[in-house]
Amino acid sequence: MKLIDLNRHGGIGANSIFVQIGDFNILVDAGLHPKMVGKEALPDFEPIEDLDLDLIILTHCHLDHLGGLPIVASLHPDAPIITSLPNLTLAPRMLRNSINVMKRQRQELNILDYPLFLHRDVAAVSKRLVGQRFERGEVYLKGKDRIEVTLHPAGHVAGAAAVEFIHKHRRIVFSGDVLFEAQRTLPGAHLPKGKIDTLILETTRGRTARKPEVNRASEVDRLIDTVAAILERGGSCLIPVFALGRMQELFKILYEARNFGRLPRCPVFAAGLGIDLCNHFEKIRRSTRLVDFDLGMLEKMRVQQPDPKMRPGRDLPRKGIYLVSSGMMVEHTPSYHIAASLLPHPDNGICFVGYCDPETPGGEILAEPEAENYFFDALDYLAPRQASVDQFDLSGHADREELAAYAVQSEARAVVLTHGDADAREWFLEELQANMPDSTVINPEPLCQYQI
Ligand SMILES: [Zn+2]
Ligand SMILES: [Zn+2]
Repeated sequence: MKLIDLNRHGGIGANSIFVQIGDFNILVDAGLHPKMVGKEALPDFEPIEDLDLDLIILTHCHLDHLGGLPIVASLHPDAPIITSLPNLTLAPRMLRNSINVMKRQRQELNILDYPLFLHRDVAAVSKRLVGQRFERGEVYLKGKDRIEVTLHPAGHVAGAAAVEFIHKHRRIVFSGDVLFEAQRTLPGAHLPKGKIDTLILETTRGRTARKPEVNRASEVDRLIDTVAAILERGGSCLIPVFALGRMQELFKILYEARNFGRLPRCPVFAAGLGIDLCNHFEKIRRSTRLVDFDLGMLEKMRVQQPDPKMRPGRDLPRKGIYLVSSGMMVEHTPSYHIAASLLPHPDNGICFVGYCDPETPGGEILAEPEAENYFFDALDYLAPRQASVDQFDLSGHADREELAAYAVQSEARAVVLTHGDADAREWFLEELQANMPDSTVINPEPLCQYQI
């Protein structure tokens, strides 16, 4: 088997891995780098320019896996794009939103490469998506060669799949992004067990040791108590969330907490793509039963749009819970604007529920808990820091210890590390080399070809 990691900048980056298994040329994912802009954000597709892809696999619909798909799909017009059933609904919606964001950035930031693709390209991709049920192998033929492809539920986010290839009795498994623990809207991962020949493993949390006293349930409890305390002192609570997955889970957490009397009844405000995705989750529940999300919750909580009349420094006109994206409070997003209104007032609070990159406003606010001010660059506003700021670990990624244990039980002959910063991969490299002395552990250089 040959493997090339097309994620040119390394790290989590723009996920895309090319593998040649027997006669089959296969691409797994084609993402956009979350921190790069323009064409630099794409994987480098040059190494596969002159060959024909036989299959493209999409593991899930976060943009670091999906955002470059229309580009590579148009370069390889004959390859079917295989993905899980929920992604048939989610992928076109996420791509259309990405076009709108790119068009806005072209105007605001003068990025002339944007948009990288158009709505007609998304329509073309949508037609080529082939939905496959979980845990049901499909056989593909090429000349005399054959390969079996099976998708396994990976937790993480609705539709997320791990991919298993069986070729001449060899099993090759891509973990994709994985969460073993169940979320409120989604069961945990169910990865293929037993002996694997080659395992391509995500390493997102390689830097973070598990704290035995902290788990998802205890973090949810602490979050509910914190939100209740903010509301009881008469403040508003901002919960910045990712639109896909985390917003829907938070709706469910808030709804259940209200029903159990753990949160006072108060207005809940939400906006944007995440609300639209709630409609898609409802559809996915009805058609596949693969998510547990009922749109009726939003009606019962009377979820409303936030008041658009917001001014930095002036407290929010209506008190309540604000569940808005982006999760890292990136500039020009609703969570950034709401934070600029809410931060200078001591009754209010911000609850981060996931990872924030250190270079984003969310990451900056979390990095300096003692700072007296925060400068909202994009609004040219220096805010006195009065509201409470807390962080809760509701990560969508498995603990490093669980992933390492999975790799060890697989007895893989080779493990390829992916989807992690340099120090995260370094931990996995040492851990797996120590516990799998007979295996080869590869931390691939971008764009280099490996014979495995
Ligand atoms: Zn993901
Ligand atoms: Zn990812």
